[in-house]
Amino acid sequence: MKYYLGLDVGGTNLVAGVVDDTCKIIAKESIPTNAGRSVEEITSDMAEVSKKAVRKAGLQLTDISSWGIGMPSYVNPTTNLLVHANNFGWKNVPVYEHLEKHIPLLPVYIENDANCAAYGEVLAGAASNYTDAVMLTLGTGVGGGIIINKKIYAGHDHMGAELGHTKLVYNGIRCTCGQKGCLESYCSSTALIRRAREAVEATPSSLIMEMCGHDKSRINGEIIFECAKKGDTLAGGLIDEYIGYLAAGISSFITIFRPEVVILGGGMAHAGDFLLESLNERLYTCTFAAEEIGIPQVIRAKLGNDAGLIGAAFLEKSITNGYKK
Ligand SMILES: [Zn+2]
Repeated sequence: MKYYLGLDVGGTNLVAGVVDDTCKIIAKESIPTNAGRSVEEITSDMAEVSKKAVRKAGLQLTDISSWGIGMPSYVNPTTNLLVHANNFGWKNVPVYEHLEKHIPLLPVYIENDANCAAYGEVLAGAASNYTDAVMLTLGTGVGGGIIINKKIYAGHDHMGAELGHTKLVYNGIRCTCGQKGCLESYCSSTALIRRAREAVEATPSSLIMEMCGHDKSRINGEIIFECAKKGDTLAGGLIDEYIGYLAAGISSFITIFRPEVVILGGGMAHAGDFLLESLNERLYTCTFAAEEIGIPQVIRAKLGNDAGLIGAAFLEKSITNGYKK
């Protein structure tokens, strides 16, 4: 049996896990990230929580094949510098050198966390029967990952696959990345909530207002979907518009990559069959050559937060440019 060490570096928690070669997590440990701290402090904790997970599994570091880390960032494989991590305020950080001080012997692989989540779902989750998949994570932002032939496709210098920042609307709404009209500005939960808050101004009689106790700041994605299911016209219109934007974005990814399946993760994917059925129907009508060659189905992610951990643990099987002393 081979064992792999994975670490999911989130803005809130550092979650480490030991995964066996059947993709089963055999031990997991977690500590708060405290993101405002120095690179030295956070990388030291990244190593500590990882070592704790190994001990919890009853193993030693010498039993582990490699250490894979998913982060909301990128490491340039030419310079070995972590380019930019917004949550942490890091820019061009020699992250491998910091990590190596604490765990010197293991090969280390770092990849973008959304890519790790997509990889995890294809290895062990919703898309484990497929080799080619596109995944979108719909939360406060929109993350994306592309898996081709059971490997992460991350583009040149591992800085591609930013599906949330593909252009959906020319000169559209300003995105968190500084550009205008990105898919994220229309398909994140933040975008749907913003649209709902604008819309209830003009239609305060909507069930949405009743459900949020007449406090617009309490509107969330769940309330909007719930109202739409109950037949509220305003909520129905908002969801219809939301699905329209999402289908437009996904239809482009289908046309470019022709995956076998599209995986939806993140909070919005929990809207359930209502979202998936409407989305699959809409995709059929708006995707290139759907009548002639069909379209891949959109399915819901299965592993939740474990997807990123499992994907990170197996990075050595997907990327070859990890850091080896
Ligand atoms: Zn953007």
